[in-house]
Amino acid sequence: MKGVTILGATGTIGVNTLDVIARHPDKFSVVALTAHSQVERLATQCEKFRPRFAVMVQEDAAQQLQKRLHHSCPDVQVLSGEAGLKQVAADTATDYVMAAIVGAAGLTPTLAAARAGKRILLANKEALVMSGQLFMDEVRQHGAQLLPIDSEHNAIFQCLPADYHTKADRSGIKRFLLTGSGGPFRTLPVEQLTAVTPEQAIAHPNWNMGKKISVDSASMMNKGLEVIEACWLFDITVEQIEIVIHPQSIIHSMVEYADGSVMAQLGQPDMRTPIAYALAWPERIESGVKPLNMYDIAKLEFTRPDMSRYPCLQLAQQAAQHGGTATTILNAANEIAVEEFLNYKIGFTDIARTVEHALSQCSAIEASSLQVILDADQHARWVAREFIHAQSRRRGVN
Ligand code: NAD
Ligand code: MG
Repeated sequence: MKGVTILGATGTIGVNTLDVIARHPDKFSVVALTAHSQVERLATQCEKFRPRFAVMVQEDAAQQLQKRLHHSCPDVQVLSGEAGLKQVAADTATDYVMAAIVGAAGLTPTLAAARAGKRILLANKEALVMSGQLFMDEVRQHGAQLLPIDSEHNAIFQCLPADYHTKADRSGIKRFLLTGSGGPFRTLPVEQLTAVTPEQAIAHPNWNMGKKISVDSASMMNKGLEVIEACWLFDITVEQIEIVIHPQSIIHSMVEYADGSVMAQLGQPDMRTPIAYALAWPERIESGVKPLNMYDIAKLEFTRPDMSRYPCLQLAQQAAQHGGTATTILNAANEIAVEEFLNYKIGFTDIARTVEHALSQCSAIEASSLQVILDADQHARWVAREFIHAQSRRRGVN
């Protein structure tokens, strides 16, 4: 029996994780569930899964949850704040930590899980993008196990030799082919991108995901973040990764070997497959995902990404090549820009402009400590906000 803590239980990944866990009550028990502020959803999850701990990041939400669970689940201990997140990630009853908080907020609790030597099921790619070197060092130093949940990285993990640790060329690997659907605007005339709405951007053709990652998928910043994530996870360089647009989202990524073999992982676009794989690894368990019917799919397509349509992808590749805090700056500016886009404050194409501005204004330095990384993150957020405010002031004047 493995004890599982879910950071970000009320999100898309959190809900899918609980769906898989519910199918295997003999294998997994829930130690802790955490959320930012969705009291009612977390309360319902607590009533069903009976965790030892429930964490609400916001103090007043924690008090509401405490009251809400008073009669139905008096044994659940309610904690709050970042301290609560870190505590449950490192608790001795926790064997596995699902890191499914969205954005930079997931970094410190996921680092706490690494320092406590847990098996980390990593969905929160922003943690690696922000602080790849530091994060990987902590994982190695404390003997933690890092299993990718992002479907592309999970696919690559499944296509690698079992003894793969580092250095792709030693395993006879030539290239990593990272697939992406191209998002909802793949065929929209480029000049119309300035006018697209948040509603259109979050309507992903194949995957059902949280708002932030859905916007990132539309801009393909998500694929850019995934390039950076892959570099850290598999100890490879940007040049070893080729991005392939694959609109059907059936092949989740591929690994090309020196002998001409290309290994691919196929499956429904349903996150329960990678979640079940990482929960049970090295075994395989039922996930609830419907089987793939090749006759229904019939056709798989592949094209190269057009960088004029997806400038965020290019910015991410450049930041990855630059290294140090460049990827921290990229991630922070993108988080601010996506938030402002979702709040109808800026247009879709302003996301790339904001990120480009932040990268040009903030100088990237060596990511030598957590403090350096957090400072770079905060500074880039400030620069991005200032840029957005200056733009809207200018528009107001005009
Ligand atoms: P979501 O928005 O649906 O859920 C986010 C979760 O994080 C919620 O439980 C929320 O309460 C919590 N949260 C939000 N802000 C927080 C904060 N400041 N502090 C603590 N908790 C906070 O997001 P999602 O789609 O489930 O994605 C979660 C992560 O997984 C993201 O990093 C995303 O990139 C990654 N991911 C998601 C998918 C997917 O299919 N949804 C696929 C691959 C990777
Ligand atoms: Mg992905």
